[in-house]
Amino acid sequence: MRYLILSDLHSNLQATSRVLEDAVSRGFDRVVVLGDLVGYGADPGEVIDRIRALDPCASVRGNHDKVVCGITDGEFFNEYALDAALWTRSVLGREHLDYLRGLPEGPSLIDGFMISHGTPLDEEEYLLGQDDAEGVFGEARFDLAFFGHTHFPCAFERGAGPPRMMIGIGASTLRLSPGARYLINPGSVGQPRDRDPRACYATFDSTNLEIAWHRVEYDREEAKARIFEAGLPHVLGERLILGV
Ligand code: ZN
Repeated sequence: MRYLILSDLHSNLQATSRVLEDAVSRGFDRVVVLGDLVGYGADPGEVIDRIRALDPCASVRGNHDKVVCGITDGEFFNEYALDAALWTRSVLGREHLDYLRGLPEGPSLIDGFMISHGTPLDEEEYLLGQDDAEGVFGEARFDLAFFGHTHFPCAFERGAGPPRMMIGIGASTLRLSPGARYLINPGSVGQPRDRDPRACYATFDSTNLEIAWHRVEYDREEAKARIFEAGLPHVLGERLILGV
């Protein structure tokens, strides 16, 4: 089975469109979405529609999805994130807001692997480095877990040898070793933060146990222009050009 793993699309239609074109050309069987469809970017409704049309086999909600649909109030958001979340809420219709409200809370177990937005322990927790990963390996039960939220493509491996951390793994592949355990971040489609501004996503082939990260060029200037036109904070457009 070939899974398409998408996370942190953040209302970036230009990035989402190019990622889906790229993924279709490679081929996939099932789609998994790790949350944050919306927030930051200027085309939330269109991005939700694109994802719904894929009929994902599993999704979890992200912290931005929760604020936009009113599950949480964004009290821990910075001012730009909160501005964008409230703007997104104001432009989405009832059907789109209901879709966000219906996204399941993570973690979720599908086909033998786990998916979450933050970590398999807490949907809003950031899993940033080896210490965080070790804590999660110690407390949660899984062999393979995909997570998002940090917008950093990376992998953590815990096997017989010393723990391994692979950060900034975009545009490469990882063959899973039987008996080892993994935490995998596919990177962010709509707002990469690893100083590579190209859109990022992953695929997982459960037959040959291979994960691949893919980087895709897209029209960042158009995404930025849309953010400016919408009256959203300019920093949200400028950061797309830099990939931060
Ligand atoms: Zn995010």
